[in-house]
Amino acid sequence: MADQPLIPPFGKKVHLEDYDPSFTNGMSKDDAKAREKKLEARMGELQEMLYAQGTQSLLVVLQAMDAGGKDGAIKHVFDAVNPQGVGVTAFKQPTPEELAHDFLWRVHPHVPPKGYIGIFNRSHYEDVLVVRVNQLVPQEVWEKRYEHINAFERLIAERGTRILKFFLHISRDEQKRRFQERLDDPSKQWKFAMGDLPIREQWDDYMKAYEAVLTRCHTEAAPWHVVPANKKWYRDLVITQSIVQALEEMEVRYPDPEPGLESVVIPD
Ligand code: AMP
Ligand code: MG
Repeated sequence: MADQPLIPPFGKKVHLEDYDPSFTNGMSKDDAKAREKKLEARMGELQEMLYAQGTQSLLVVLQAMDAGGKDGAIKHVFDAVNPQGVGVTAFKQPTPEELAHDFLWRVHPHVPPKGYIGIFNRSHYEDVLVVRVNQLVPQEVWEKRYEHINAFERLIAERGTRILKFFLHISRDEQKRRFQERLDDPSKQWKFAMGDLPIREQWDDYMKAYEAVLTRCHTEAAPWHVVPANKKWYRDLVITQSIVQALEEMEVRYPDPEPGLESVVIPD
């Protein structure tokens, strides 16, 4: 397949079959890894400035099918950032208390405050993915959520949170390979759940649900990235690059020092 956009064009229906999960833009693994190392270091610097400046924040949303690489990406992309300035939230099946509220109730408290990077391992999008595929609520309820999500994301973006959303796109074959690896490797067996198999059977329904998300909740304020994720090294490079670019655009910088610092004498 020829060139493909990382960020789908706005206002057009996304068809995932147009996006090759094995795309690497002609890059070799060694080149990608070397480039990612450099960008990681830059991310560390930019994050420190984001924290010091304390006026903006960054939200990174990761969505994928099982074995799509969300955990691996978190581990590798954020190698060089100071853990003190980053928060990771993994969204699991909602508790009874969470289900007794609107679907965004449990999400809002985890939006990163000024100065911080927040990472969502799964997110409010589960409420139009797993919930839609399995009809966990009636269609008239999940159907309204796309607009609720757009309004929510607009709210936090307007208040100073830059939002980057990544769909880690793997092929069905690649998922099979990764599941098999989990079964065969004792250090990975804990990652395999019997419940992953029925979800794999719903692959096509999930792809449709993802296409709806990528089409209906894809805005300039909160764009989706369709990350070719069959190759882990390319996935990590693409995410790292996008985050660094966003932080550069946000013009994070150290705040001005207090006036008069040059004449301060530290007493003995
Ligand atoms: P994991 O990320 O592998 O630990 O699995 C978390 C599980 O929680 C996945 O099967 C998700 O689909 C499920 N989950 C997350 N959010 C929701 C939600 N809002 N409604 C139903 N299931 C959810
Ligand atoms: Mg899982």
